[in-house]
Amino acid sequence: MINGERSIERPLRWGMVGGGRTGQVGYKHRTGAQRDGTYRLICGAFDLDAERGRDFGTKIGVAADRCYGDYKELIAKEAGREDGVEVVSIATPNFTHYEITKACLEAGLHVICEKPLFFTVAECDEVAKLAEEKGLIVGVTYGFTGHPLVHQMAAMVKKGMLGDIRIVDMQYSHGFNAGDDVGAGEAVKWRTNPKTAGPTFVLGDIGTHLYYLSEVVLPHMKIEKLLCDRKAFIPTRAPLEDHATVLMHYDNGARGRLWVSSVDAGNMGSQRYRFVGSKASVEWSDSHPDQLIYEVQGEPNRTLHHGMPYLEEESLAYDRMGALHTEGLGDSWANIYLWIAQAIDAKRRDDAFLKGHHYPGIEAGTEGVRWLENCVRSADAGSAWVEFK
Ligand code: NAD
Repeated sequence: MINGERSIERPLRWGMVGGGRTGQVGYKHRTGAQRDGTYRLICGAFDLDAERGRDFGTKIGVAADRCYGDYKELIAKEAGREDGVEVVSIATPNFTHYEITKACLEAGLHVICEKPLFFTVAECDEVAKLAEEKGLIVGVTYGFTGHPLVHQMAAMVKKGMLGDIRIVDMQYSHGFNAGDDVGAGEAVKWRTNPKTAGPTFVLGDIGTHLYYLSEVVLPHMKIEKLLCDRKAFIPTRAPLEDHATVLMHYDNGARGRLWVSSVDAGNMGSQRYRFVGSKASVEWSDSHPDQLIYEVQGEPNRTLHHGMPYLEEESLAYDRMGALHTEGLGDSWANIYLWIAQAIDAKRRDDAFLKGHHYPGIEAGTEGVRWLENCVRSADAGSAWVEFK
């Protein structure tokens, strides 16, 4: 159980690029990072609008002279300070991730970056090499995989409680883009333009969460081939998709299907995962993250609750509130940020701890981008089956 006791040597000096007043995801980062006292927010370039960013920064407690006009100024000025920033979170639109991550790493700073990490696997490989050379960590904020019951599913699969995995069924959909984009805000504009979003819209925006979570639960299974069908129901979004279906064949013979959509009018259910084995199935949704449906063939269905002693150690280790008291997305993000802090702390000391440590790092970011590349290759070939590479 996590109770806020410090598990790293000292708090990390932390800065943010993006995630300002109008940003959708910035508060999630601050909620996660500041929960356990493992990060201290000391600087930021929070906004494209420098003045608004400065005003926002001071209102969340950052000194005015450390609220910078842009990330280049942040890096330059912080480098000259003895108490300068050590780790920077990047919560900006997709097209900026690569350039800002590289600049931070070049300056000797650890990075925590949003997904989808970059546009291409080649960029990911280049940055992974740079991080390795510099001895730095790149964390990726797949914010839903900190939920303890995700790790319960992984532990149950590992113990063989489901039998051989046969079916992987996942959905992440909402209806917030069911209408057209006339008068749309910045967050929609950059998401629907390939220059700023990258090669995908919903596949990268929400599909990468599904894919990473499935990797956490089923680390032993690799995709052999996939078929992706994508469509822009609102034509102005083409060539990017606001809806997609992906079929997957895994190397153990399992079959997978997922769908992602931002035109699923009226749906507030968000994500749903079902992993079916030869003996039993588990089903979990981020709408009810405290509950896991466990169905054994021929037995009454069970609902498992977070924090209960009957759960596996891997799940209980990440519980924060204890049974009976609700856990939510903020708790999940706190776990993600804690695991990344532990990785950074270990990296500084070159600790063997890192080898067995679970956190979403550059490999997880790269695999997400690889999955997207395969999806696009399939879709562009007329929704053909393609070998996963
Ligand atoms: P947004 O458009 O709502 O906000 C972007 C923020 O970044 C704004 O504050 C903007 O002023 C600022 N910004 C833009 N360019 C900047 C720059 N060069 N320097 C400094 N600040 C800059 O976008 P969003 O929805 O918050 O998404 C940001 C990123 O987070 C995207 O990559 C998105 O995919 C990701 N995201 C992840 C999750 C998650 O659950 N992990 C959820 C939402 C968004």
